[in-house]
Amino acid sequence: MSTAYDYDRQSAAEAWLAKPLKLLIDGRHVPSVSGRSFKSLNPATEQVIATVAEGGAEDVDRAVAAARRAFEGPWRTMRASERGQILLRWAQLLRDHAEEIVELESLDAGKPIAATLRQDFPAAIDTLTYYAGWADKISGDVVTTRDDALTYTVREPVGVVAAIVPWNFPLMIGMWKLAPALACGCTVVMKPAELTSLSALRIGELAIQAGLPAGVLNIVTGPGRVVGDALVNHPDVDKVTFTGSPGVGRGIMKGAAGNFKRVSLELGGKSANVIFNDADLDAAAKAAAAGIFFNAGQVCSAGSRVLVQEGVYDAVVERLADRAQSLRIGDTLDRGTSLGPVISEKQMRSILDYIDIGQKEGASLVTGGERVGGRGYFISPTVFAGVKHEMRISQEEIFGPVVSVIKFKDEADALRIANGTAYSLAAGVWSRDMGRVQRFAKRARAGTVWINTYGYTDVRLPWGGERDSGLGREHGTAALENFTEPKAVWMNLNV
Ligand code: NAD
Repeated sequence: MSTAYDYDRQSAAEAWLAKPLKLLIDGRHVPSVSGRSFKSLNPATEQVIATVAEGGAEDVDRAVAAARRAFEGPWRTMRASERGQILLRWAQLLRDHAEEIVELESLDAGKPIAATLRQDFPAAIDTLTYYAGWADKISGDVVTTRDDALTYTVREPVGVVAAIVPWNFPLMIGMWKLAPALACGCTVVMKPAELTSLSALRIGELAIQAGLPAGVLNIVTGPGRVVGDALVNHPDVDKVTFTGSPGVGRGIMKGAAGNFKRVSLELGGKSANVIFNDADLDAAAKAAAAGIFFNAGQVCSAGSRVLVQEGVYDAVVERLADRAQSLRIGDTLDRGTSLGPVISEKQMRSILDYIDIGQKEGASLVTGGERVGGRGYFISPTVFAGVKHEMRISQEEIFGPVVSVIKFKDEADALRIANGTAYSLAAGVWSRDMGRVQRFAKRARAGTVWINTYGYTDVRLPWGGERDSGLGREHGTAALENFTEPKAVWMNLNV
């Protein structure tokens, strides 16, 4: 990829965006049954960048039927190693189109291109190649029971999967669902968030080019309340894998009850990043700033609460404010930009409301707190000090570049505050005392604990939380269990 963006040439991404974008059903690009479409905006400029087909319940029916045919037909019966090879060919095609995909994702989701290139894209490729490698390594066990029987298990794909994806990491989170589902032999109907449909449609095209049989991957774009709801309630969908808000997640569990679909949910977070007096303050503040300002705070595991021990409280607030002020806000296609816009006007208004609420609750606004410019949904990186644990800005997920810095006395106090929200996705702890960090890691109510670092994820490690943070785990071998079921086989040897 070149280092500077050339605004005069038409890029591959722009050329691709010029045509109306259709649904992907049964290996073909088709308009929606209704013929309706919607516009997709670049949140950095508020300009329309694409026209996308608006799917409805009938399109979902067609997509699910195609996925069922492909499941019963080529995908399930194909040699597992061949499935893996197709996924690897897909990964290579994605790499060949890296520049275009990264640009599409940055334009559509308002992500600084340097971050998309460094984080989202490589993580998506890593996920795909990791699970491609698993395709021919999923096996059962021979289980000893009785002398007159051969008893063993096999793992079978669950069937047709609905993958419902949010707008904060459309490509990466989309791949977190697609790669393990396809590697396990399932077929998929994917619904991207309506704000960010583009990268999904482009990688779907490349999947077909890589040799994925028709119907194995279907993509129905459109509103969550219509397309998402139709998938969740569809009698021929076997599993829903969802990432998004706790409210929608709750509705999905209810809808899935109709035919007892398997459900896995990755929901929200209000993660605590806990800094003790003896921590390396420069490293902790640097990681704490990245932990909340990366992707403009629109990260489920964002360290949106920084808990600081009394002795170093002021020093950490000062360092966080310095870091916030040093971020470069601007054009997402400029490699020097470190903070992009938030995803939509609605999201921007909601974040600004929370900033207002924080001030009214008595927290002190150290820096930021405003919209930046009149075009694009930019919010200045915001640091609140003097935040009390009970305040709404300490309890509720803001999903924007806003950090609440909370003072604590000792280990017990830190743990009480860290564990005192409805969420349990992740937590961080900073201290040179190895006993203390281990005690914290043991007792933190969190699916992931970072010690003297913050924010790393790897597809080989389980990911997820409980309560308002979700149900089940993605990644690693946990995802293989999500998309397969064990079958017990009992063979009588006395015949
Ligand atoms: P959202 O719940 O509004 O939307 C997520 C997806 O669900 C979108 O594709 C949307 O179209 C669809 N949807 C909306 N209504 C639906 C319905 N009634 N039935 C079925 N599908 C429906 O969430 P969002 O605003 O797109 O994303 C932000 C939220 O996602 C935050 O709360 C964040 O914490 C969470 N999130 C969690 C993780 C994680 O790994 N735990 C990762 C990213 C985002």
